Amino acid sequence: YAAKRERTGLRVWDAVDAVGSTRRLALLGDLRRSIAADELAVHYQPKVDPGTGRATGVEALVRWHHPEHGRVVPDEFIPLAEQSGLIAPLTTLVLRTALRDCARWRRCRPDLTVAVNLSARSLLDPGLPEQVADALAEVGLPGRALVLEITETAVMTDLDRALRVLHALRRLGAQLSVDDFGTGQSSLAYLTRLPVDEMKIDRSFVAAMAASSSDAAVVRTAVDLGHVLGLSVVAEGVEDAGTLEALADLGCDAVQGYHLGRPMPAEELAAWLARQVPAPRRGEPDVAPVP
Ligand code: C2E
Ligand code: MG
Ligand code: MG
Ligand code: MG
Repeated sequence: YAAKRERTGLRVWDAVDAVGSTRRLALLGDLRRSIAADELAVHYQPKVDPGTGRATGVEALVRWHHPEHGRVVPDEFIPLAEQSGLIAPLTTLVLRTALRDCARWRRCRPDLTVAVNLSARSLLDPGLPEQVADALAEVGLPGRALVLEITETAVMTDLDRALRVLHALRRLGAQLSVDDFGTGQSSLAYLTRLPVDEMKIDRSFVAAMAASSSDAAVVRTAVDLGHVLGLSVVAEGVEDAGTLEALADLGCDAVQGYHLGRPMPAEELAAWLARQVPAPRRGEPDVAPVP
């Protein structure tokens, strides 16, 4: 009976796997068409200064609404795009959309930055810096308006090659950010060798810090490490007021998460920015907004 059950289990597993790869193949074809037809959307999530409550920047997050399957999450289609060579056109699309939207917002918020996630493949593409330079020039933005979020794992696949690309991006003025810090095979040795400006503490630690003292200790240590290395430290995945307060106390430079603002379409983000109280002018008392 046990053997039979095992066999049955195996068959079920095989079937599930086969359905999985059929879906992957179908999605891949659809993704190719969607990219070519410019059907992917870009949403934006604010990065907020915990001291002032104001957005210092936004992160671009790609969205795909499939005509039959509905919303397909990036964690499913980004790996597909990476494996199939679709990641280059996808990155181009997100980059150009993000810079175009950011150029509009910077007319009212001149210091606002936009962050674009780069996958491992893009980071090893020697043509990327020129592509970024062209995209910046097209909308007339300085390099410092752009933050590029990378993961250490991506860099480690070929350090020398990645470093050449990273240094070229830096020469354009773009800021580099290490995403999901604390996960994967992140290694402190690599962190010190990368020409980065910002560190983002992975949300798995941030979400757990209220309930777990060891996770809180990891976050505290990461903030201190980032500051020792001269980096701006961002905490991602802030979902409640208590965590926000704890991160502000730890000296986090920016916070991001559902508690501050969810990823939203460009028009919604513009309205969200407009609702923020103006920054207090230097030298003037910090007056609370009239209720
Ligand atoms: P990431 O860059 O670490 O982005 C943060 C993810 O956490 C986003 O998921 C965001 O929606 C989600 N998030 C933000 N705040 C909270 C929170 O308070 N709680 C929880 N539970 N989640 C929160 P999303 O948009 O599904 O993206 C997942 C990953 O896919 C991203 O992780 C990034 O690695 C990748 N990705 C997204 N857009 C792009 C893109 O345009 N290009 C590339 N190469 N990768 C992308
Ligand atoms: Mg990111
Ligand atoms: Mg992240
Ligand atoms: Mg992530």
